[in-house]
Amino acid sequence: MDAADGAGVAGISLRWALALALLAAFGVAQKPYFALHEVAPGVFAAIGTPGSGAGSNAGFIIGDNGVLVIDTFQKVEAARALLAAIREKTALPVRFVVNTHYHLDHVTGNQVFADAGATIIAQRNVRAWIHTENLKFFGPHPAPAAQATVAGLRAPDLVYDDGVEIDLGRRRVEVAVRLGHTGGDSVVRTGDVLFTGDLFWRHSLPNLIDETTAPLLTTLRGFTSGSQAATVFVPGHGEVGTAADVGEFRGYIEDLQRDTPTELAAKYSGWSGYSHFIGPNLADVAAERSGTKKLPRPGA
Ligand SMILES: [Zn+2]
Repeated sequence: MDAADGAGVAGISLRWALALALLAAFGVAQKPYFALHEVAPGVFAAIGTPGSGAGSNAGFIIGDNGVLVIDTFQKVEAARALLAAIREKTALPVRFVVNTHYHLDHVTGNQVFADAGATIIAQRNVRAWIHTENLKFFGPHPAPAAQATVAGLRAPDLVYDDGVEIDLGRRRVEVAVRLGHTGGDSVVRTGDVLFTGDLFWRHSLPNLIDETTAPLLTTLRGFTSGSQAATVFVPGHGEVGTAADVGEFRGYIEDLQRDTPTELAAKYSGWSGYSHFIGPNLADVAAERSGTKKLPRPGA
């Protein structure tokens, strides 16, 4: 399971570590961290393999003077594998990494790309929260090792408030801030492809720990209608999706506000992460409704 994607995570991570150690002892190869999909010419989605430890999706865009990477996984080794995959496609420099948000399943490999010469960029709150808010994923009393992990995360070099346009030679990449998931999320668009970060999860229950419902629904509507609509969506978790998949995810967020647990199970128990996240999702909705939800604060 993903460290950033739920409570009680330290125990799960330990279990994974033990499982991986056993696999190594018996000579079973590590699962590939991700599957690469070329979703448009020079535009690649790296879809994290469940159970591999990658923890999330990532991707990259090859321009004609450099490469831009979107997110860096939850494991340094997965980030190294992504850099190697980029090197198989192009010798151009990796110039930028965009962190779609601060959650540690999307930023842990930052240093790998910084070492390769990339500038790490993100919305301003990512720099404020990467070393503070990520501690909550390790429970109320994070162990020293967890504290060291969070303290050691590579923060963004360069931050923006609303977004930034980047020219990779003749390829234009638009990075735009969108609300609803953490309060510091960016989407990355080139052509008809949108990398959504965790604002969209395909056929997966989301982590709503920092979510605000009304802005998220507005963001999701904007993904599929209006002047900014896209047609190919690379989610933070799950396979590459369509506008219909984004619509289904929006339906889940709406249903969560009004359906009974029985109704939700009937519709969504086939989605990945259902048994893990349905409880926290309902608790997050209840907390938001009662005004007791604790959200990360800008500048905190
Ligand atoms: Zn995530």
